[in-house]
Amino acid sequence: MDPLQVEKFRTILMEELDRLLAQASISRYELASEDHQAIEYLDKATVQADRAMRLRIRTRESRLIKKLRLALDRIETGTYGECDLCGEDISLKRLEARPVTTKCIDCKEQEERQEALSH
Ligand SMILES: [Zn+2]
Repeated sequence: MDPLQVEKFRTILMEELDRLLAQASISRYELASEDHQAIEYLDKATVQADRAMRLRIRTRESRLIKKLRLALDRIETGTYGECDLCGEDISLKRLEARPVTTKCIDCKEQEERQEALSH
C-alpha cells in the first residue's frame, strides 16, 4: 500500500481508538457511581436493564478497541491491508468502509457462506 494511504488509515484508526477509550473511561465511572444511586430508585428493574444494556455496549466497545489495536500493529509490521487468509490486498474501498477489517471481500463472503451453512 502507498505510504501516504497507510498514514491516512493510521490517523483514522488512532482517532477512533482515542474516541472509544475516552468513552470507555466515562462509562466505567458511571457504572461505579451507579450502585449508590440504585438504592434510591424505586424501579430497580429499570436500573438493571439499563446497566445490562450499558455492559453490552462496553463489551462491543472493548472488542472494537482490540481490533483497532491489532490494525495499528499491522500498520507497524507493514501487513496492514493484506488479507489474513489469502494474502491478497484488501480493496481500498473496503478498508475505507471498515478500517479494522482483516479479510478481503472474497474470503469474508466465503466465510459468511460457511457460517450460514453451519447454522
Ligand atoms: Zn482473502
